[in-house]
Amino acid sequence: MSKQKTSIIREVISAIRNNERFMVATHVRPDGDAIGSLLAAKLILQRLGKEVDAYAQDRFPPEFDFLPGAREVRNKPFDSAEYGVAVLVDCGDFDRVGDELSEFISRSVPCVINIDHHIPNKPFGNIYWAEPSASSTCEMLFDLCMSLSLVPDAALSSLLYTGIVTDTGLFRFSNTNQRVFEIACILVGAGANPAYLAAQIYDSATPGKLRLLAEVLGTLEFHAGSRIATAQLTRSMLSNSSASYMDSEGFINHLRSVKSVDLAILFREGGDGLVHVSMRSREGINVAKLAQRHGGGGHRQAAACRIPGSLQSVRSMFIGEAVSYIN
Ligand code: 5GP
Ligand code: MN
Repeated sequence: MSKQKTSIIREVISAIRNNERFMVATHVRPDGDAIGSLLAAKLILQRLGKEVDAYAQDRFPPEFDFLPGAREVRNKPFDSAEYGVAVLVDCGDFDRVGDELSEFISRSVPCVINIDHHIPNKPFGNIYWAEPSASSTCEMLFDLCMSLSLVPDAALSSLLYTGIVTDTGLFRFSNTNQRVFEIACILVGAGANPAYLAAQIYDSATPGKLRLLAEVLGTLEFHAGSRIATAQLTRSMLSNSSASYMDSEGFINHLRSVKSVDLAILFREGGDGLVHVSMRSREGINVAKLAQRHGGGGHRQAAACRIPGSLQSVRSMFIGEAVSYIN
C-alpha cells in the first residue's frame, strides 16, 4: 500500500474512532457498487460499535432488495437526527447524493468522509479518500476492513462482492485485475456465494423489463462506420411495457457488445426535461471527459451526463459531438 493511501486510511479510521453517530449515504439512482458500499459501510461501522443510519434518496432497483440491510435504508433526512459524521460512498460529486440529503449534510453534519473511486470532478469532504484505480468503492471498503483488522462475515462479504461484481461487469471490464480476484477469493471464502449473488442480480428480470429492452433495441443506430452505437428510451416505452426506468440500467451493455463499437451511447428521457446520456467506451476513449463538458462525469470507460432538451434534439446534437470526439 502506498504511503499516501496508508495515511488517508489512517485519517478515516481516526475520524471513525472519534465519533459515535454516523450517517452513510450514496448517490441517486444507486447501482450495485453504490448499494453494496452503502450497506457495507453501515455494517463496518456497526461492527465498530457505532450508531449508524443509511440513506439513499432513490429506491434501490428491486434486484438488490435481497441484500442484508437493504430494507432499512432511509430515503429522507429527518431534522432531529444529529450525526457527527456523514460517510459518502461511491458519490462522484457532492450533489449526486441528492438535493435533500446534500442540503441536510451541508447544514447539519460537521464532518464528511468521502470514499470514492470515480475520477474527481470537484473534490469534496473533510476527509477525501479518492482512488480512481480501485475497481469499485467496495474494493476500497475491503481495504478499510483490512486496515481495521476486521474480518468480513458472510453478510459483509456478500455486500462487498456485490459491488465488485457489478462494477467490473462480472469480472469483464478493464478494472478487473489480479487484486480484484484476490479480494473476490477472500470474500467467497468468507461466505459470499457467487452463483447465488449473480442469479439474484442478473437473472431476476420481470417480463416487462425484457419487453422494454426489445423496444429500446428497436431504436438502435450505428454511426461513424459502426464505431458508435446509439439507442433511446422514451417515457411511452415505459408505460407500454409496464417496466420502470430503473429496469433500463444495464441496457447500454448490449450496445457495446458489438465488436466494431468503440463508443455506446444510450439516451433516456428523464421526464424532467432532461435527457440522461449514458456512455460506455473501449480503452482509449475517455468518456468521463465528454460527460464533464455537460456537467456530468464518471469513469474513463463509463460516464454519464444530463442534457436539457427533447430526446431527438439531444440525440442528434450529441451524436455529432461524439463522432468528432472519437476522431
Ligand atoms: P450511468 O450511465 O450508469 O448512469 O453512469 C455511468 C457512470 O457515470 C457511473 O459510474 C456514475 O456514477 C457516473 N455518473 C453518472 N451520472 C453522473 C453525473 O451526473 N456526475 C458524475 N460526476 N458522475 C456521473
Ligand atoms: Mn462504483
